[in-house]
Amino acid sequence: MKCRRCAETAVVQLRSHNSAFCKPCFLLFFRRAVERAIDRDRMFTRDDHVLVAVSGGKDSLALWDVLHDLGYRTEGLYLGLGIGDYSAESERKAMRFALSRGLKLRVLALGEEAGSFTISEATSTTRRPPCSACGTFKRHYFDQAAAAGGFDVLATGHNLDDEAARLLGNVLHWQLAYLAKQQPVLTPTHPRFVRKVRPLYRTSELESATYAFLRGIDYVVEECPNSHGATQLVYKDLMNRLEQRMPGSKLMFVTDFLKHGHPLFADATAHPDLGECATCGMPAAGERCGYCRLVSEIERRRAQAVTYSRA
Ligand code: SF4
Ligand SMILES: [Zn+2]
Ligand SMILES: [Zn+2]
Repeated sequence: MKCRRCAETAVVQLRSHNSAFCKPCFLLFFRRAVERAIDRDRMFTRDDHVLVAVSGGKDSLALWDVLHDLGYRTEGLYLGLGIGDYSAESERKAMRFALSRGLKLRVLALGEEAGSFTISEATSTTRRPPCSACGTFKRHYFDQAAAAGGFDVLATGHNLDDEAARLLGNVLHWQLAYLAKQQPVLTPTHPRFVRKVRPLYRTSELESATYAFLRGIDYVVEECPNSHGATQLVYKDLMNRLEQRMPGSKLMFVTDFLKHGHPLFADATAHPDLGECATCGMPAAGERCGYCRLVSEIERRRAQAVTYSRA
């Protein structure tokens, strides 16, 4: 198998692009693909200060590596989720990556921040699915850190596989509000929010894993233990089977939706005027934001449990 660009021996075959690349040409291909997505969707410029949310996994570290390499002004943010060995290992990998490149990494940890709870505390008291509580916590801490740090943009490592699986789930259940929000760039709807972007939305999981491997990035390989049985994985599996039979399906599904489908859903739901949360000051549709409502629900249930055990 020969490299499409230089005819050297290829190390990776990308059936979705009907291509194969040697190591230097693949690294160039990947960097260019990310840079093109940033420019095409006007995500940010080299003047913007970008906060990169890193999990210690291949996608977010590959993203940070590319952005740093391309000369963007970045800082990393790691949020410890308190999920046993998985979180400990993820934090080590994220810190080692930042240290090896002289990059600044902000580290926060659920359960250690004032008034915060871990995911297992949230799920055991409220019986919410772990990923639901995790999503609420992550959104809050990412938004808060981006606003407090004066960043212009918050970038996450969601890749094409994530986007295709999310789109499939949203279409299966006709989640109009979620379809309206499924975009690689989310414009802030309140002065305390920053722009949220997904520069890897056109590059696949295989591509970011290959990039991370070829760049020698030491990332956490294990999946989060809470991901087992998650519906998202069922959608990913379905999309992988389709991709196997029809290479390029994921990219076409997502990009055609953004081009032809998204405009039809963009105004499907009313955007409520956001005020400020009475507890934390972050944007909120009602008196308190989703995060503070979840925290007070945990506190209330815990207090009830103590009362019952004393009775
Ligand atoms: S799998 Fe669920 S709990 Fe684990 S990091 Fe992802 S959203 Fe959070
Ligand atoms: Zn080549
Ligand atoms: Zn709040």
